[in-house]
Amino acid sequence: AHLDRIAETDAKVHAFLHVDTEGALAQARKVDEAVKAGEQVSSLAGVPLALKDVMTTEGVPTTVGSKILEGWIPPYDATVTRKLKEAGVVILGKTNMDEFAMGSSTENSAYGPTHNPWDLDRIPGGSGGGSSAALAALQAPLAIGTDTGGSIRQPGAVTGTVGVKPTYGGVSRYGLVAFSSSLDQAGPCARTVLDAALLHEIIAGYDHMDSTSINAPVPPVVAAAREGLSGDLSGLRVGVVTQFSGDGYQQGVARSFEAAVSQLKELGAEIADVSCPSFDYALPAYYLIAPSECSSNLARFDAMRYGLRVGDDGTRSTEEVMSLTREAGFGPEVKRRIMIGTYALSSGYYDAYYGSAQKVRTLITQDFAKAFEKFDVLISPTTPTTAFKIGERANDPMAMYKADLCTIPANLAGTPAMSVPSGLSDEDGMPVGLQIMAPALQDHRMYRVAAAYE
Ligand code: GLN
Repeated sequence: AHLDRIAETDAKVHAFLHVDTEGALAQARKVDEAVKAGEQVSSLAGVPLALKDVMTTEGVPTTVGSKILEGWIPPYDATVTRKLKEAGVVILGKTNMDEFAMGSSTENSAYGPTHNPWDLDRIPGGSGGGSSAALAALQAPLAIGTDTGGSIRQPGAVTGTVGVKPTYGGVSRYGLVAFSSSLDQAGPCARTVLDAALLHEIIAGYDHMDSTSINAPVPPVVAAAREGLSGDLSGLRVGVVTQFSGDGYQQGVARSFEAAVSQLKELGAEIADVSCPSFDYALPAYYLIAPSECSSNLARFDAMRYGLRVGDDGTRSTEEVMSLTREAGFGPEVKRRIMIGTYALSSGYYDAYYGSAQKVRTLITQDFAKAFEKFDVLISPTTPTTAFKIGERANDPMAMYKADLCTIPANLAGTPAMSVPSGLSDEDGMPVGLQIMAPALQDHRMYRVAAAYE
């Protein structure tokens, strides 16, 4: 039924870069047989899922939304992919994304934009717009995203779906094509909080293949989501981050957020304002750290190891082939980031740019720690605006970057954060998201709040 739905709707939505019909049906049959044979299967066995094209899939193309990896077929599965397969989850295919996960609208995909199912003229968020659009278009009930600065939560918010960035290190990065390794984190996307929790527990856990994987028990997110469904938040201390309001926030988003605060109060939560002053510097710090790491990570696309190779006719030097390949294979946003990152890391500028950004990062972590002394969770709108029109910010990188104003601090601090649907804006009728943030390894706290609120 989901493959049929994709066939009916994807010409308009363009959520998928690759639909793996055969692989999906084979996996579904395997689960059917296991069930018939009376074998124990996981809670999500047989449930279809849309996988962001940043995760490697053995034998199935993985492009990361880039021409430089066009035609590349990975010889191995990412840990997330492997865990999904082992749990009997049916991977329908690979979803569209901003090239190398750099963007907030999926317009930076080398394979054309994805459209928001709520209004096809609008963006579905990014970089994981394909995954969130697949959920909103009822093409799949589950999806996987990755969140470096907001790419799970912001697409979730603007498509009316649930998106979770777990604690950094909670889900393995092995086989996740790297953008900014100290920020990248994979997580679950779904249409309900409980579905996201079930998926979270399947993909999370220690992995020796990822040196930053946390060797600790997976937070009990399913139990917390079930507890939250009872709708009682008595005594829970909720902090409203004052930095995330005011200029640049649409009225419809602000009103939705006020309504969410009232609803959480009705559920028994104690709510007060909290100031995190260094969050004002999160965006500039992120746009130095993420490009710096990307300029290093993307050096591996050297025309020798993967996919595309341009101009290798026997007359050119290695350097020339490398340069021609990177010129043709990377899109404008990726090139912009490589240039910013290389500049920020160059001797003479390193301390002023990269060094300062790292100091801001420490201050942000300290602001979170102080706030969590007084509050169990923090909340804010997920995004300052609802989904904008395709093309509206395409030539204005600064306007595009602002879509992640509220989501970036959690990446810099490594703390978990999620977006849960918060109704429709009374301005334009588009979905709005409520962001819930928790301390590291306390992912279950935000699931409880989100399930009660949902
Ligand atoms: N929009 C942000 C960026 O362009 C975040 C992307 C992400 O989380 N992958 O870098």
